[in-house]
Amino acid sequence: MHIKTYGCQMNVYDSARIAELLGGQGYQTVDDPVEADLVILNTCHIRDKAAEKVYSELGRLERIRRDRGRSGAKQFLIAVAGCVAQAEGVELVERAPFVDVVVGPQSYHRLPQMLADSFQSHAARVDTEFPAESKFDHLPDIHAPPGAAGAFLTVQEGCDRFCSFCVVPYTRGAEYSRPVAAVLAEARGYAKDGACEITLLGQNVNAYHGDGDDGTPWGLARLIEAVAAIDGIARVRYTTSHPADMDDALIRAHGEVAAMMPYLHLPVQAGSDAILAAMNRRHTADVYRRIVERLRCARADLALSSDFIVGFPGETDADFRATLRLVEEVGFAQAYSFKYSPRPGTPAAALPQVPEEVKRERLAQLQDLLDRQQRAFNVAFLGRTVPVLFDRPGNRPGQLLGRTPYMQVVHASADATLMGAIKAVEIDGVGPKSLAGRLSRQAAA
Ligand code: SAM
Ligand code: SF4
Repeated sequence: MHIKTYGCQMNVYDSARIAELLGGQGYQTVDDPVEADLVILNTCHIRDKAAEKVYSELGRLERIRRDRGRSGAKQFLIAVAGCVAQAEGVELVERAPFVDVVVGPQSYHRLPQMLADSFQSHAARVDTEFPAESKFDHLPDIHAPPGAAGAFLTVQEGCDRFCSFCVVPYTRGAEYSRPVAAVLAEARGYAKDGACEITLLGQNVNAYHGDGDDGTPWGLARLIEAVAAIDGIARVRYTTSHPADMDDALIRAHGEVAAMMPYLHLPVQAGSDAILAAMNRRHTADVYRRIVERLRCARADLALSSDFIVGFPGETDADFRATLRLVEEVGFAQAYSFKYSPRPGTPAAALPQVPEEVKRERLAQLQDLLDRQQRAFNVAFLGRTVPVLFDRPGNRPGQLLGRTPYMQVVHASADATLMGAIKAVEIDGVGPKSLAGRLSRQAAA
């Protein structure tokens, strides 16, 4: 089996769970789709470009299947999972009739049966329901891959906020929080497997309100404290948050929980109140500024990241300048920015659109400012010694990559045995998007 993952960390998490689920049925993972008897595309529908990539990959897979047919080799099944599957369902099979299985993000626990049925007959199987039972109750225990430094852990899915540009409420369904006991059991498992960093995931993770064993709903702050208290967990992060769900307890936790990393991805989308209202974000630019102030009071060295959309319907030059102003005032350590992409079925798609050329120019201007801020943030680390969690081999032999508490990527010459360890690294170089350093002679951080 070969799984190709598109989009956000929640898809990365889902792919790992699909691999475990099908691993239990005897499927083994291979790196090259040409060698596989089953290819699963775990897809993203957030922007048009992301969805179109899936169709071009499907074209490539169809060619592999045709070649396979000619050589009389074993069967080659093609499955589409994730948000494109959910959003397009039967339409997807009409456009790509050679696809065998289409399964939405809430029903992938049913994949083993769907695949077994598919091996029996040629009719495509489509399951894009939102089953009443939670898929989490039907999935096997997951493990961190051997040697993994950190693990993603989905605690919340779906979204009830209905921002007018966004497909998530339609593809991932209504907001759902996993019970506290299930989350903590999974986190303990990762710690036992050797992972020392846990990233709690949700489409709107700070709306988390899972049932605790004490019969009361827990907020995200309380959950983070409990995860941070697990033996072996040195770092906790969470993503992605909505500004209107940043409650007092969570802001306080940034200052009080030692394992909570001083980095927060808090999407604002735009700096103009008129555009924020049209986006149905339910907060103003000033509310965002105040949340940032309070967060920085709780944790002075907090590094901020955000998402921005330019060229939302109705965005004027003055609205766009308000976004630039907000970026200048807040100062971001890094950020993601996108041209508005009309998504079928969302309210904003029906509004008069900003010309593509204007979107392109605004995006370039915003990205230039964000890149300058990221570089300035990184340059300030030259000469500093920071704790780095090594999590990947580097491109060169004898090199490892890791992350600082502020999420910067660091390249350093280090022995492979340091994978998964947190070590003090002296920063001696700054690239466009990453840092370089050497292991400090000091003891481990
Ligand atoms: N839940 C998060 C929040 O409240 O901001 C965002 C989740 S969404 C998966 C990730 C990002 O994709 C959004 O923050 C937004 O910037 C971007 N995005 C979503 N829909 C978009 C669209 N139609 N066009 C362009 N960018 C979009
Ligand atoms: Fe989409 Fe985030 Fe808005 Fe929910 S809060 S609708 S996930 S952008």
